[in-house]
Parts: sequence; structure tokens; C-alpha cells
Amino acid sequence: MSIESLRADIVEIGRRMYARGYTASNDGNISVRLDASRLLMTPKSVCKGFMTPDMMCVTDLDGKKLQGDRDPSSEMLMHLEVYRQRPDVQAVVHAHPPTATGFAVAGIPLNRAVLAEVLTTLGSIPIAEYATPSTRELPEAVRHYIKAHDGMLLANHGALTVGADLYAAYYKMETIEHFAHISLVARMLGRENLISRDEVERLQGLRDTYGIKAPAPICAPDEIAPGQASCQVVEAPASPGSRLVPSDNPDGEIRLTYRELQQLIEDAVRSLR
Ligand SMILES: [Zn+2]
Repeated sequence: MSIESLRADIVEIGRRMYARGYTASNDGNISVRLDASRLLMTPKSVCKGFMTPDMMCVTDLDGKKLQGDRDPSSEMLMHLEVYRQRPDVQAVVHAHPPTATGFAVAGIPLNRAVLAEVLTTLGSIPIAEYATPSTRELPEAVRHYIKAHDGMLLANHGALTVGADLYAAYYKMETIEHFAHISLVARMLGRENLISRDEVERLQGLRDTYGIKAPAPICAPDEIAPGQASCQVVEAPASPGSRLVPSDNPDGEIRLTYRELQQLIEDAVRSLR
């Protein structure tokens, strides 16, 4: 792919991210490998919705600027770390999509077995530990998960996705935000039926059938080893013979109609007399 078409793709993806509300003001950043030693990256301090192809920076893999009038993204260190850890990754996208970022703020990872599509593509979406944006801390936090995941939340910050090309990385950002939105709606409705472990294993087998290149296998929470994550932890209950398992949700919301609430109050008042 020519550098001109990659510049144009970054402009288009920036426009889509801004239009969908994944970034506000100058938030977010996008990069892509040009060849074995160079990256093309969004510049710092520009709104991703209004970029032009000439604004992009060319850097080497250590972050030294080789070409461009502007300085590279303030989150360049995080991008460099991803390319260092994942030779298979060609593009990196970072944004603050509001529902997914809400989960990142609440400290709730998107790791429940809920949607088959998400399980076959991204697997689980963990939360990288809180790090001050644009410091050395952020690549360190990302390093823990990046070998085994193509998408993650960044605690109290946003989300990061990677892919085999710019659009693959961007679509994973869309998938994360869409999944977060669906999870939020299900939890507001008070119930979240989970896909059983057997079915998760069946879905994992489908990755090969569909030619989906997942960076790591899906595993159960008790299979994780300390250190850098080597598998995708998915919460899926063992329930032989069933594919969906009703949620066991002791902390779930209780909903009452106005009449039921009034009855409870009347009963309580009566018991006090
Ligand atoms: Zn950010």
C-alpha cells in the first residue's frame, strides 16, 4: 500500500472516530507500519475529525521523527511498545469511546462470555492498569496484556486496539464500544445470561474454521499464570448440556412497580403501629 493511501486511511478513520463520539477535542491517536523500520502516525494536538493527509508524521521504531511538520502523537510511546511486542501488528488505534471508557472507569473488564462474535474475534477485553497518559507508565501497563489481546481498556482513560491493517484495528474499536453498549443495556435490564464454557470452546474452534487469527487461546480465570498474560480470560460458567446459563446475579438491581413499592411502605407503616 502506498504512503498516500495510508495517509488517506488515517484521515478517514480519524473522521469516523470523531463522528461516532469516540474522541472529543484532540483525543485519540492512530498509527500504521510503513515498512520494517518506519511508522506513519497522527500528530499531537489536532482534532482527529479534521485532519488532512499532509499532517501525518513518519517516525522510526524508536520514535525519532523522520518526516512531517508536526510532532508525533503524545501517546507515541504506547504505540511503539505495541509494535515492539507484536511483530504481527500493522496498525494501532487509541480512542476514548464513552461506554467502553465507562467500564474502564468503573474497573469492570469486558470479559464475560456474552456475544459469540466478540468471543471469536477479540476474545476477552481486559483492563490495563491505570497509568498517567503520555508517560512511560502507559506502555508498561499495556505490555502486560498486549501479547495475548488485540483490544483492551485502559483504566480511567480509554481503549486500545490493534490489527493486521488500519481498518482491522479500527473495527475492533467499534466492536469494543458496541459490546460495551450491549453489556450496559443487559446489566440495566438486570440480567446477563452467559454462554457456557463448552459453547465457548466450540466457538474457539470456529476461529480456525473462519481463519480468524487470535493472538492467544481463551482460558478460564483459574488458568492464568502471573506475569505477562498468555491467554484470554473469559468468564463462562461450566454447565454441561446447556449453551446459555442464566445469570447468577446476587448484586443485581431489584425493580418494583409503583404499586408494589407503595404496598411495601404501607406494610412497613402498619407494622410500626
Ligand atoms: Zn487517550
